[in-house]
Amino acid sequence: MINVTAFRNESVAVMGLARSGLVAAEALMKGGAKVLAWDDNESRRTAAMSRGVTVADLATVDLTGVKALVLSPGIPSTFPKPHKIAARAQEAGIDIIGDIELLALSQRAARYAGITGTNGKSTTTALLGHILDQAGVSVAIGGNLGIPALSLESLDADGIYVLEMSSYQLELTKSLAFNVAILLNITPDHLDRHGGMDGYIAAKERIFAGGKAAIVGIDDDICQGIAKKLADAGRKVVPVSVLRGVTGGVYVEGGKLIDAIDGTPKEIIDLATVARLPGTHNWQNAAAAFAAARCLGIDTAKIVEGIKSFPGLAHRQELIATIAGVRYINDSKATNADATEKALACYDDIYWIAGGVAKEGGIASLAPYFARIRHAFLIGEAAPAFAETLFGKVTFTRSGDLATALQQARAMASNGGTVLLSPACASFDQFTDFEARGEAFRGLVEAIGTGERP
Ligand code: ADP
Repeated sequence: MINVTAFRNESVAVMGLARSGLVAAEALMKGGAKVLAWDDNESRRTAAMSRGVTVADLATVDLTGVKALVLSPGIPSTFPKPHKIAARAQEAGIDIIGDIELLALSQRAARYAGITGTNGKSTTTALLGHILDQAGVSVAIGGNLGIPALSLESLDADGIYVLEMSSYQLELTKSLAFNVAILLNITPDHLDRHGGMDGYIAAKERIFAGGKAAIVGIDDDICQGIAKKLADAGRKVVPVSVLRGVTGGVYVEGGKLIDAIDGTPKEIIDLATVARLPGTHNWQNAAAAFAAARCLGIDTAKIVEGIKSFPGLAHRQELIATIAGVRYINDSKATNADATEKALACYDDIYWIAGGVAKEGGIASLAPYFARIRHAFLIGEAAPAFAETLFGKVTFTRSGDLATALQQARAMASNGGTVLLSPACASFDQFTDFEARGEAFRGLVEAIGTGERP
């Protein structure tokens, strides 16, 4: 755990005591701060108290002398309207910050790489972390992905923090200047929290505040505009594209990753041969991670080794096993049709397991990929609506639950086919979260591998 000494002998309020908030309270206390913490959830308050954290209702307690409010990124500080405690802090002139700001204030010697974007953040963060690690750099990987920032280890001047940054976290990170920052893409998302598209874009742009190299995916108009603005302001920008060649950037052409950062395009690696990064969306992630590693001074050959040995992230088109010539792929993270589209684009002969709690619009947008689907196995609440969309276009079975769906898909799938769990739905009708759904799928597939009935 990081020792946050920036507030030694000062009072700090911590709002939100889930994983990252609780660690923030403890890291502040370890560094000698006086912490007052609150969470609307009683069991979280009890858990915090059992770890020696002083709990006080921040809506009513006297905030005189409190130097900062550490807010969990899930709690609004601006749009749609500030949480009442955030509003109280604002009125009292108290700084509102997040745990990554505390990390930056405490670990000043290390370098920082930050990754944001609407999609691909976790994959790119994990990939860049893996490349640096394989190249022998001491790295700590976390933030929005996996380990809370203040649970990471301390790093010295040779070390690099690789941090996935959500737009919420960027709003709460005021002084961190990233040595390298990646903005992958921007599409409408979480607009309510940011007061519309402008607020969302402004939050994402914060990743470049005060920093050095800016890696920008320029395949959408918004990011292209941001890249231009940064370049016009004299910033070092490395544009990344999977749609066209870009001077001074990194791009992908016919699957080949091309490095043109130094002006002369050089072919680096054929990404089509990298099984753990399927699809052009992953090529965008790979190109951005490559560019970032280059800017951090890593040798090209080492970066290539890192890309080739990337184990992939769980629940994102994760190949669990190939059994009797059939691939079993866990894409449980695909909680909407856009994400599922990425997976359907990668395979033919798909035995598709889908369903759960549907998002607005359902799966109608996936029609261009229906020809690739040999049969669909529908589960959860969305089954009737999905059946209606598929009717007359794709054959389907209403399987009900995941275990039944897998059993039926296995019975039907033939050599060379792909059983794909890519639900295009949230999971909470049948599972606690997408991870639990993906783990259940893994367990069921592994049971086939060991000869047990799924
Ligand atoms: P995030 O952390 O931003 O949610 P992930 O790396 O976890 O992103 O990927 C989540 C899903 O988003 C993937 O399963 C895939 O469907 C899609 N995705 C990943 N990378 C990209 C990208 N660069 N562009 C568009 N979609 C992507």
